[in-house]
Amino acid sequence: MADTVKLFYEDTHLHEFEATVLSCQPDGDTYKVVLDRTAFFPEGGGQYGDIGFLNDVKVIDTKEKAGVVYHRTTAPLAEGEKVYGKLDWEVRFERMQQHSAEHIISGIVHNRFGYDNVGFHLGEDYCTMDFNGPITKEQLREIEIEANEAVFKDLDIQTLTPSGEELKDMEYRSKIEIEGQVRIINIPGYDTCACCAPHLTKTGEIGLIKLVDMANYKGGERINMLSGRRALKDYAAKQDNAKAIGSMLCTKENEIAVTVEKMKEEQISMKGRIMELEQQLLSFKAQSIDVSADVVSVFDGGLSGNAPREMMNILLERGAKVCAVFAGNDEDGYRYVIGSKSEDVRPLCKLLNGEFNGRGGGKPEMVQGSLKGNKADIENELK
Ligand SMILES: [Zn+2]
Repeated sequence: MADTVKLFYEDTHLHEFEATVLSCQPDGDTYKVVLDRTAFFPEGGGQYGDIGFLNDVKVIDTKEKAGVVYHRTTAPLAEGEKVYGKLDWEVRFERMQQHSAEHIISGIVHNRFGYDNVGFHLGEDYCTMDFNGPITKEQLREIEIEANEAVFKDLDIQTLTPSGEELKDMEYRSKIEIEGQVRIINIPGYDTCACCAPHLTKTGEIGLIKLVDMANYKGGERINMLSGRRALKDYAAKQDNAKAIGSMLCTKENEIAVTVEKMKEEQISMKGRIMELEQQLLSFKAQSIDVSADVVSVFDGGLSGNAPREMMNILLERGAKVCAVFAGNDEDGYRYVIGSKSEDVRPLCKLLNGEFNGRGGGKPEMVQGSLKGNKADIENELK
C-alpha cells in the first residue's frame, strides 16, 4: 500500500481535513482505517497517537506501519468514502505543549551538564524525563527559569529536513541511524534534536513550564514536568488547596509551612503534657483500687499503650497477689495483662483464652493477650 500523505508534517496545527478511505479492516471489536491523507499523528517519539473523529466515527488511536497510517475506529467506514477528519485538538495541542517543552528542558540539561535524556514518557496527566546524571534542587530551579526564558522569547520552533550529507556534519541529540528522511527539531539557542513528532511552531505557545518534581532514578534523575494548560490547571488546584488550608489556619497562603511548623512544635509539647497527666491519672486510679481479693481485676476502656501494664505493676507493688488488667470493652473485646509476684499466672491465662476465644501467653510472672467476652462473665471466671 502507498505511504499515507502526512498532513501533520506539512502543518502541525491542522486539525480538520478531508480525505478518502482507502481500506477498512475489522480488528477485534474495532476497525483499522487507512486514508489517502491524514492529519492524525501516529504514535512515535514518545508521543501517543491522535484521537478524534472521521465523520461521526470515533478514532481511539493512530499508529503507523511501514509508512501507512492506521486509524483505529469504533465503527466501519466504506472504502472510497470521502470523510471529514477532526482531531481532538485540545488533547493534541496539550501533548505538543509537553513535547516541545521537553525538548527545551533536555536541550538545556544537555548543554549545561552533557547528560542525555534516556527516557521520555508523555502520559495523559504527567510528563517525565530521565537524565543519566545528578541534578541538584537548585540546578533544577535554574533549568526551569532558563526554559521559561525560552518561552518568553517566543522563538520559532523549526523543522529541518537535512540531506544525508548535511546530517553527517550536524550536531544534534538522538543521533542514531534512522532510515528515510530524518526530521530535526531546532529551537535556536536551546536545542537541536531528531524527532518524528509534530511540534508547536513558536515557543510562546508552550506557556508556563513547571518542573514539579524530581527523584533519583537509576543513578540519574527523573524529572516530572507540567507545561501549558496542564501547568495552569495544576496551579489553580494548588492555589485552591493553599487558600483552603490558609483560611483554616488563619494564615497567609505563603506562610502555611511556617504556621504548620509551629503547630507541630505545639503538638509535641501538648503530647508530652498529656502523657504526664495520663501518668498522674493512672496512679490516682490505682491508689483507689482494693487489692485484697485473690485476683484483683481492673476493667478500663481508657487505658492504651503501656498503661495496662503500668497499672498492673502499681497494683502488684501495693500488694495484690494476682492482678489482671483489661483494656477495651464488651463489644470490641479486651487486651489483657495478668501478673503476679508469687503465682504462676499461665494457667489463668489458658483458662481465659479457652473460655473467651482468646489468644496470648507469656512467662509465669506475666502474660498478655486479647479476648472477646463481657465484663461480668470474665469477672465471674476470675473469682
Ligand atoms: Zn521529541
